[in-house]
Amino acid sequence: MAITWHTAIVRRTASLAPEVRAFYLEVPEMERFDFTPGQFITFDLPVGEKRLQRWRSYSIAGCPGHDNTFELCIVRAQPGLGSRYLFEEVREGTELRFKGPEGSFVLPPELDRDIVMICTGTGIAPFRSMIQAIRRFGRPHRRIHLIFGARTEADILYRSEFEALQSEVPGFSWDVALSRQPDWHGFRGYIHQIYLSAYAHTRPDVTFYLCGWSAMVDEAATNLIQKLGYNKDQVRMELYG
Ligand SMILES: Cc1cc2nc3c(=O)[nH]c(=O)nc-3n(C[C@H](O)[C@H](O)[C@H](O)COP(=O)(O)OP(=O)(O)OC[C@H]3O[C@@H](n4cnc5c(N)ncnc54)[C@H](O)[C@@H]3O)c2cc1C
Repeated sequence: MAITWHTAIVRRTASLAPEVRAFYLEVPEMERFDFTPGQFITFDLPVGEKRLQRWRSYSIAGCPGHDNTFELCIVRAQPGLGSRYLFEEVREGTELRFKGPEGSFVLPPELDRDIVMICTGTGIAPFRSMIQAIRRFGRPHRRIHLIFGARTEADILYRSEFEALQSEVPGFSWDVALSRQPDWHGFRGYIHQIYLSAYAHTRPDVTFYLCGWSAMVDEAATNLIQKLGYNKDQVRMELYG
């Protein structure tokens, strides 16, 4: 099937953490850019000859609105051909070719189980979109527990927003584990300790959503399914690479 490509214009970028930027884009050819929270878009970036050298996917980090804009949250990778282009070449007004939205890492129509979201770094993007949408559209839900990991306090993404959401969204809580901040008052080390103890008693009414780089996601999936004994269908994953 032929791929449909669209053009997005970068309207603004902003620093979220030392190596992470938010990108705010607009799609002038559309009246409304529609997506389901959890989905991603794929850029065709001018960083290579072959298609697989050029394509980079990014989860949409904001809530679906009533307009033709969307928001991304991108970390500068190493060596980072794609992200280097996005961080160093892209300016206000730069046009980027993209396809999507696509992907099935989305919430079910009925939120009748507890939801545990586990992520590190920019893996938070789809979860921010999901939680913002639950709040904005007043979707009935049960408990939502966001577990976020980063290195230092400066790397915590959307901190004030999620702190506020704890009082704004009933049943929402978030825990942060920092691996390189010895004086952190919260969890020190990796995120795995958090869900391993909070969800040690296996139960059927919870679904885990994991998002990020394969080392973390694979370890979390193995812990949940093999160590704790959750069913495979209770563990959903989005792998960044
Ligand atoms: C469905 C999907 C959604 C994605 N959503 C996002 C998103 O919302 N935000 C985002 O920043 N990225 C996201 N990614 C990753 C993104 O597509 C690129 O892989 C990333 O930007 C690195 O590309 P690059 O060209 O800069 O680095 P490259 O030069 O292509 O490669 C860098 C290498 O390092 C690895 N890598 C890159 N960054 C990290 C990291 N932080 N930790 C561990 N390994 C790393 C990559 O897997 C690769 O092997 C997503 C990927 C997929 C498949």
